Amino acid sequence: MTSTPPTNIQMVDLRTQYEAMQEEVDQAVLEVIRGGAFINGPAVKDFQSGLENYLGCKHVIPCANGTDALQIALMALGLKPGDEVIVPAFTYVASAEVIALLGLSPVMVDVDPFTFNVTAELIEPAITPRTRAIIPVHLFGQSCDMEPIRRLAERHDLRIVEDNAQAIGAAYTFSDGRVGRTGTLGDIGCTSFYPSKNLGAYGDGGAINTDDDALAARLRTVANHGQNRRYYHDVVGCNSRLDSVQAAILNCKLPRLDDYNASRQSAARYYDQQLAGIEGLLPPARLPSSTHVYHQYTLRVTDGRRDALQQYLQEAGIPSMIYYPVPLYDQGAFRGTAANKIDFLPVTDTLCKEVISLPMHSELDEATQQYICDRVRSFFGSK
Ligand SMILES: *Cc1c(COP(=O)(O)O)cnc(C)c1O
Repeated sequence: MTSTPPTNIQMVDLRTQYEAMQEEVDQAVLEVIRGGAFINGPAVKDFQSGLENYLGCKHVIPCANGTDALQIALMALGLKPGDEVIVPAFTYVASAEVIALLGLSPVMVDVDPFTFNVTAELIEPAITPRTRAIIPVHLFGQSCDMEPIRRLAERHDLRIVEDNAQAIGAAYTFSDGRVGRTGTLGDIGCTSFYPSKNLGAYGDGGAINTDDDALAARLRTVANHGQNRRYYHDVVGCNSRLDSVQAAILNCKLPRLDDYNASRQSAARYYDQQLAGIEGLLPPARLPSSTHVYHQYTLRVTDGRRDALQQYLQEAGIPSMIYYPVPLYDQGAFRGTAANKIDFLPVTDTLCKEVISLPMHSELDEATQQYICDRVRSFFGSK
């Protein structure tokens, strides 16, 4: 059975999502403009406390974007040049870029071939006397298995900075039954409100969170030019603020985040059902201890035909993306640099050749998904 192709299939549909709350968003944006509190206005304070409530953490420090969040986190930890920070090689560049930018050494490690995330087993052999921190990335919307990573960090006195840019809203269950949101499972959580993220602004935005009072104070200081009192600068910091207009938009979207994630989960279930059991195609694995909020729905094409599938889908009007096509150690920024000693990791290498992400957002309808799945199945010659 071939369904009629829906028109204009998108990887992410921000317009339909906006139309469902247009009046509320328009009103909130107008309020900021009319109120004139453009920098750190009430909308930013409201968002800060809203996100503290949502995450169940003591301190949220809003900032300009997710990359800044990671940079500020590492600055607040007071790491010294040459200190090593462990980071997966299969992630967005920002996770490792900030390490090198601060004169620290990114130590790249491989990931699990099914969850795409780092594990304690993969991190442990990379620990040296110079290791100071780990950046686990909750890739594509699923938590890393954090309990063993926390145990490892405790044993070696390492700080954990979670890259939660793709997983806001996901929950991790510890073996004693305690449940925590991703971002609150280490020392510092970092997230991004880039428009296409699960909680996306209409421009750039980011946030850092922690339960540690002293760390929160340092994070705030670093993000604000190193000052605690205006024009008195105690440390070298940076200027990173969440824009008031973006905060107002995020205040409209935060109460809807769980619904957005539920829509993504139901779309993922549909893909799972329709794309199961196809030779050469591996749907994304679920970690029993974590919920998955599907920032991306990412499959592996294990028969070497990934690029052919992408081409075939494109001809059928179906967009897809390769997250990520190049291992971080193979990027010009890192390859052969003094800071980076890693030049090959087998799983990362394989994943970069095999992964493909299908359209995934909160507004996907079943007709569109059925069409996409029909086309994928027909590519593999499966009915
Ligand atoms: C988006 C993203 C970031 C960076 O966020 P920006 O807001 O774009 O700076 C960092 N890490 C990961 C894994 C991301 O997906």
